[in-house]
Amino acid sequence: MGRPVVVLSGGMDSATVLAYTVALYGEADAITANYGQRHVREIESAMKQAERYGCRHDLVDLTSVGALLSGSALTDEVEVPFGHYAEETMKATVVPNRNAILANVAAGVAVAREAPAIILGVHSGDHAIYPDCRPEFVEALAGVLKVANYHPVRVEAPFLHTDKAGILRVGHALGVDYSATWTCYVGGDKACGKCGACQERLEAFGLIGKTDPLAYE
Ligand SMILES: [Zn+2]
Repeated sequence: MGRPVVVLSGGMDSATVLAYTVALYGEADAITANYGQRHVREIESAMKQAERYGCRHDLVDLTSVGALLSGSALTDEVEVPFGHYAEETMKATVVPNRNAILANVAAGVAVAREAPAIILGVHSGDHAIYPDCRPEFVEALAGVLKVANYHPVRVEAPFLHTDKAGILRVGHALGVDYSATWTCYVGGDKACGKCGACQERLEAFGLIGKTDPLAYE
């Protein structure tokens, strides 16, 4: 039996999911996809997290796929909208079918390694904007992965009904190093502190009364 496969983006949610999975299963594999996102910082953060937990970590090059999914502010020259993450404008950050694609790549890896499950970092804060982060999606995918292969793979989304503050609480209890996570959509050397993703992150740290260890502009 292989190790569970965690979809690791380099952000705070998936870093927490990785720590949680290692705590639960004792070990995990991680995969990180590059679909042409603007920030190598995300990938570097994913590498640091995987290394910290001694995971096998595979980088998957999906840039040619990403290039076909044009129109998102995360992969194109479309301007990243400023404003609250739950606003309608944030739909510009939706990469078509992104989580479905990443989850299915992870599922293929899980089947090949006879792993018991794929672990996703979706959470309730994403439900408003991203259809493929919603419970209906996770449930439907679980149904598909039960029948799509000779080796059935479970879908686990431990934070599906948890918000970002709840994720941070779990992460702090598990000792996650949030200085090695990257959330910002637009920042350079430092996170911008103003984009929807930064706002959501800072809000969550505020709610649990902790200081974000990441440097901001
Ligand atoms: Zn930002």
